[in-house]
Amino acid sequence: MKSMTLSLMAAAMATLLASCSNPPARQTAGDAGAAHVAAANQAAGADLQALTVLCKPAPATRASHDEVEKGVAGQIARPAPAPGKAFDNLYFVGAAWVSAWALKTSDGIILIDALNNAQEASTLIEGGMKKLGLNPADIKYIVVTHAHGDHYGGVNHLVERYRPRVVMSEADWAMTEGKLEFESSQWGPVPKRDIVVKDGDAITLGDTRVTLYATPGHTAGTISPVFDVTTGGQKHRAMIWGGTAFNFGRDIPRLDSYIGATSRMMQLAGEQNIDVMLSNHAGYDGTVPKLAQMSAPGARGNPFVLGTPTVRRSLTVMNECAQATRDRFGS
Ligand SMILES: [Zn+2]
Repeated sequence: MKSMTLSLMAAAMATLLASCSNPPARQTAGDAGAAHVAAANQAAGADLQALTVLCKPAPATRASHDEVEKGVAGQIARPAPAPGKAFDNLYFVGAAWVSAWALKTSDGIILIDALNNAQEASTLIEGGMKKLGLNPADIKYIVVTHAHGDHYGGVNHLVERYRPRVVMSEADWAMTEGKLEFESSQWGPVPKRDIVVKDGDAITLGDTRVTLYATPGHTAGTISPVFDVTTGGQKHRAMIWGGTAFNFGRDIPRLDSYIGATSRMMQLAGEQNIDVMLSNHAGYDGTVPKLAQMSAPGARGNPFVLGTPTVRRSLTVMNECAQATRDRFGS
């Protein structure tokens, strides 16, 4: 009888200890972030599903050099989509994976991002602009959204030919001068430090003003350009999100800055009536099917005009997926 009591007590102790060391089932690792994933999916609705890829579990470590080389080769090998005109003053001249946007002003062109390397800058940016009736010699500024090679790799080729000024944030210029986060032999060399912008600075060219907002997270110095576009005689306000994916491994402060940046831009979208949200990767914003839709016979309206509530929903999806990722990593 005595031994029976002791063994029951031992079993009870074991259960107690087990329940102390194991959190309740609702908070196990498998469920971490589930509420944020659900919120992201709800915000995404049917039209913004492409952004929910951000809610997939992100790797805890950064891709190795070999993985980057393979990934970049695979993306560069994809056939490029046709260039196209999204607005009266905004043209897509990108690759399949990474986008470049040419913003036409009354006094030249502001190019946003420059693709992977000189060959893409030549074929897709210069070639694409010519197909669309633009002169690459009119490029006066290149805004580089962040210091990853798929966005800066073509800069030097264009600088050598046309001498545009190059714009980046201090943090990302510093990265080009120090240790790069990712390196690939297929990317053009880093550009030489030129114009440094901080949050809220603007580049003005002719009749066009591009305000650059710091939206850190994807890199420490990611910038997102905001500017006016016109279509069908109507003015709209556009934002190009400067860096989207969580490819930096387990880094809680970075996720926190991404969460802060998406919340802040959600508010700004409301204040400035931002009703167009574009990406520097066409997979996120549906650039290619939208351009095809616009060139179809009998096309009406502009599918790039989302409306401010949808711009805010896009930022909500990104924000909730960042929170889900933070919860999975354990904050
Ligand atoms: Zn990047």
